Order: sequence, then C-alpha cells, then structure tokens
Amino acid sequence: MSNINISLPDGSVKQFEAGTTAMDVALSISEGLARNVLSAKVNGQVWDASRPINHDAQLQLLTWNDEEGKSTMWHSSAHLMAEALEFFYPGIKLAIGPPIENGFYYDIDFEDYNFSDEDLQKVEKKMVELAREKNQFVRQEISKADALAYFQERKDPYKLELINDLEDGSITFYTQGNFTDLCRGPHIPHTGYIKAVKLLSVAGAYWRGDEKNKMLTRIYGITFPKQKELEDYLEMLEEAKKRDHRKLGKELELFTFDDDIGPGLPLWLPNGAFLIEQLEELAKKTEKKAGYKRVRSPHIAKESLYLTSGHLPYYKDSMFPPMELDGSTYYLKAMNCPHHHKIFDATPKSYKDLPLRLAEYGTCYRYEKSGELFGLMRVRSLQMNDAHIYCTKDQFEAEFRAVNEMYIKYFKIFGVDKYIMRFSTHDPAKLGKKYVDKPELWKETEDMVREVLINSGIPYKEVADEAAFYGPKIDVQIYSVIGKEFTLATNQVDFAQPLSFNLTFTNAKNEQEHPIVIHRAPLGTHERFIGFLIEHYAGKFPLWLAPEQVRILPISEKFNEGCKNILQSLENYDIRASIDERGEKVGKKIRDAEIAKVPIMLVIGEKELEEGKVSVRKQGEGDQGTMSIEEFAQFVTNEVKSQLEV
Ligand SMILES: [Zn+2]
Ligand SMILES: [Zn+2]
Repeated sequence: MSNINISLPDGSVKQFEAGTTAMDVALSISEGLARNVLSAKVNGQVWDASRPINHDAQLQLLTWNDEEGKSTMWHSSAHLMAEALEFFYPGIKLAIGPPIENGFYYDIDFEDYNFSDEDLQKVEKKMVELAREKNQFVRQEISKADALAYFQERKDPYKLELINDLEDGSITFYTQGNFTDLCRGPHIPHTGYIKAVKLLSVAGAYWRGDEKNKMLTRIYGITFPKQKELEDYLEMLEEAKKRDHRKLGKELELFTFDDDIGPGLPLWLPNGAFLIEQLEELAKKTEKKAGYKRVRSPHIAKESLYLTSGHLPYYKDSMFPPMELDGSTYYLKAMNCPHHHKIFDATPKSYKDLPLRLAEYGTCYRYEKSGELFGLMRVRSLQMNDAHIYCTKDQFEAEFRAVNEMYIKYFKIFGVDKYIMRFSTHDPAKLGKKYVDKPELWKETEDMVREVLINSGIPYKEVADEAAFYGPKIDVQIYSVIGKEFTLATNQVDFAQPLSFNLTFTNAKNEQEHPIVIHRAPLGTHERFIGFLIEHYAGKFPLWLAPEQVRILPISEKFNEGCKNILQSLENYDIRASIDERGEKVGKKIRDAEIAKVPIMLVIGEKELEEGKVSVRKQGEGDQGTMSIEEFAQFVTNEVKSQLEV
C-alpha cells in the first residue's frame, strides 16, 4: 500500500494509506468531528465522505456549518423523498431533484395522479422512517449504455434525456435503500444524518422550465440534523409571513403596483417615497464625508455604449427591447457603469485626480421574466446606491477597505448583526471563455481583495468560478433580525472595462495608465433594501427613518385646537408629526397608531394643555410619563442622533 499526503485547511499535512476517505481523516482528528462530516472537497471538487482518495490531496471537510455541507444533506434528502414517493406511487417518473437555498425539491411526473398538499404528511412520515434505517448512499460509476438501459426499463423519459446529454465515462448512479438515481453527488454517508423532515409545498413546474414541455409536480421540502433546528425554522417562517414586505407595504401605504404601469414597476406612495429620501440623504452625507462626488446620467443610451461595455450582446436578454430613434438604436439603461466611465473620460485625468469616486442613485431597467418578479425583491425598475471608484493599484487597498468600512457603518445603523461577504474568484481553466483573458490581473486583484478581507476581519467565504466576466466580485449577504437571508449587493473589482473604454490617467512618470474600477452599492437598490428593512423592522421603522414620527392624540375633539399649537411647535423642531382629529375614543386612537406603527404617541387632555406638557407613549412600550414640549423635542432629537451616530 502506498501512502498519500492529505493537506488540511489549517495548513497541516498528514500521511494516510491510499484509499483513505474523508471520514477516516475526520476520525483521525476527533470522533465528534466525524459525526458531523456530511461531505468533503478534494482538490476543490465535491466528494463523498466515504469515497476513497487515492492521491495526494487538499482536503476540506464539510459539515452543517458549511453551505456546501448543507447542500449535500438537502440533495440527499431529495433522494430520500424520491424513495418515499416511489414506495407510495410505484412507476412515477423522476425529473430532477436539486438542493436549493433553503431545502430541496424534486420534479416528478405522477402521470394521472393529482398529488396534493394532503399527500405530503404520509410521505414525510415515510422519509423519517427510511432515515432511521441509516441506509448508506453508494456511488457507482456506470457506462452510458448501462445507464440508458436502466432507465429504459423504468420508462423514464426525463432521465433518458438527461443521460443522452452526458458523456460516457462521466456518469454515476447513487443508491440508498431501494432507490437508485442518476446523480453526480456528493451525498451524506447514510440517511441517518437526517433527523427532522418537513415537506413544505406542492407546485407545478415545466420540464426544463419550458412551457412547451409537460407540467410536472414540484415538491418542496427541508430537513435538519436536529429536531430543534426544524422547530426554529418553522417559527421563523411563521414570523416571516407576518413581516412579509408585500403585506406590510400595503398596510403601511409604502408602495403599490398597477396594471396600467406594468408588472415589476413599483409606484412609491408618499410614505415609501419618504423612506427613499431618508436613505438617499443618509447615503449622500456618508458619501460626501468619504470624498465621493455626485453625478447624473440619462435613462437611455445608444447601443454602441453597451457594445463597448460588453453588456451587449451578452446581457441582451436582461435588457428592455431597443428603440429606434433618428437612425440610431437606443436602450434603457441596465447599469450605471458605462455612463460613469464616460463621465470619467469627459476630461483628461492625472494621478492627482485619483482616486475619483463618482456616485449616483441611478435608475436602471432590467427585464426580469414575469414569473420571477417578486414584490420589491425582483423588479424591473430599480434605483441603485451606485458609485464607481477609479483608482491606481497603489490606492486600491485603501479604497477597497474604505468601501468595506462603509458597509459596516450602515450595518450598525440598521442593526444588521449578521452578515457575510462571498468572495467569488475566477477559474484559470476558463480564461478567455467565461473570464477576461488576463491571468496576471486576475491573480493580482484577487490577492489584493483577499488581503483586505483578511486584514479587516470581516467574515467572508471564498467561492471559485463565480466571478464576474471582468473581475472578482463580492456579494454581501445580510440576515434580518429573524434570520432571513438577503443578498444585499454586489461589489466588483474591474480591470477590464477601463481597458475596453480605454480609460486612462497620466501617471507620475508622465505615462498613460489604466485605472482600476471598484463598483460598489452598499445600500443595494431602494427596492430590495426597503423590502429588506420592512421585514427586518416588521414595519416598525426607527425614529430617524419613520415617515410619521409622532402622532398627537387629543382625548376629545374639544382639545383639537390646542393640539394644533403643539403640532406647530414640533414642526419648528423638524419633528414629523400629525394629529388624530377624529371623534374616536382615545383607546381606539392609540390602537390605530400602534397598527400604523408610529413610534411615538402624545396623549393630550385638559391637564396637559393647561400645564404646557405632553404625555408620551412609545410604540409597543406604553406610557413614558410627561414632559414639556421642549424636553420632548430634545428627547426626539437625541434619539434620532444616537440612532445615526454609530
Ligand atoms: Zn442527486
Ligand atoms: Zn458598476
């Protein structure tokens, strides 16, 4: 038996006999670790924990704490669900069953049977039963002919179509218990790792997403390694339903959609427009302090601009259709970048002008398929907290660090405690195809980004082969207070567009040099970010952001006049207030103000008016005692200040 060297992410190298498995390696470290290993990565390739390793390798063990470990478990759960379904419905045809962001699904052709929500529970129970059998997932390499023969016998047209697209020698089957599937893997060691199962919903889905094909039944589910985690997840779903931005957006009169305007094109009502203005003010102040300059650009541009930027023809499907005008073809703006590049290029630049930071809350239009539109989260018109930083290589590190610090400052203001940056790098094998063919520039920029991320201590995760065409990118994922995940924004490092636009500056040696561009948008788009904030705050916006900060509630209509003086005083202090002048009981007025999620209520009767005081109630916290109007104004001002000075 020959020996092989296994290197681990901590830098240690251990010797094992050839044919060792990730599980053996985990066991050599600790039994506790081995119990948690779901799959592995061998030289960057996903791998079953029980699959032999026959050569020297870099090994990464994946557990439930790794996104890929979770995916392995959910992928295996899709197989487990298919096994349970075959038990109840023999002869069903299986299409595809991948893991997704939260759980998994399987697309199934039940032929004549109409599978519905009522059928979920028994399948769920069967899955738990099969999981307890601790059936191993067994990998088998199989020839194309044998694979075809297997599914011909089962008369499964979907698997046959999939196999026909594969190359001989690359095909594998996985079997657990009585179930075999065409699958690339990897899988968890055995079904016993799945401790809690919930099948969530049933939907329709066309085979290969094409409406000309047959409609299949898609079953969604999720599984966990602990019962408690499932319970927490279901609780979170329940809470998320209450916080749904589409529901609250309507109740709080923030935004609406209208058939005559068109799908995916939100109309902002006064309360929503106010949120936008507050966010823009925050961004403008923050960016001004950080040395940004504001620019403006039109909503359309000629085809030639997007040909230079490379958005055409590659991005064409995501753009609105072209318009012909005076013999030229125009497009609606899908990105602000090329416009800003032209602004950079409008005057000659020297190294003394750099870094140049151009900012604009630019409106862009993107064609999202109607089936993919979703409230404010997926829209067709979006206003982006955009900016482009043009800098030299020497300035890159400081600029990139400052961008990250700006993110963190915003996270503090908005109470986002959990976030992670996904750092996507290129794949050297795909240079010239998926990525600009500049190997040294890729290495250089990726090294620079990695160094800043490490030095700043920001939690990050590196993912290979997910970079943008023109440079490495960083996706920022944030979590709301209830743990719901949002992809907030993408930052990109770009060394290619300065070349295609031939952007240059005169360096200190009096030579022409290309700048590096950083694309950044910490507050994402208004649409997505406000959608996030609505759910994060459950509509209870903090005082600085709330469209209506204070509602004055006269105990009876005879105090309405006196309350107008209070309103006037508050307005003089720039406090956003209104009076509930209705002839309702004060209890009802308080309830309505609570429903409208107004942060502060002032209850005013004869005593208050005589003494020149206000009785203060805080949303959800009740009575705060009385104070003079000046004291109250000071209290509001201090609170707003403390929320923004983090
Ligand atoms: Zn599979
Ligand atoms: Zn950009």
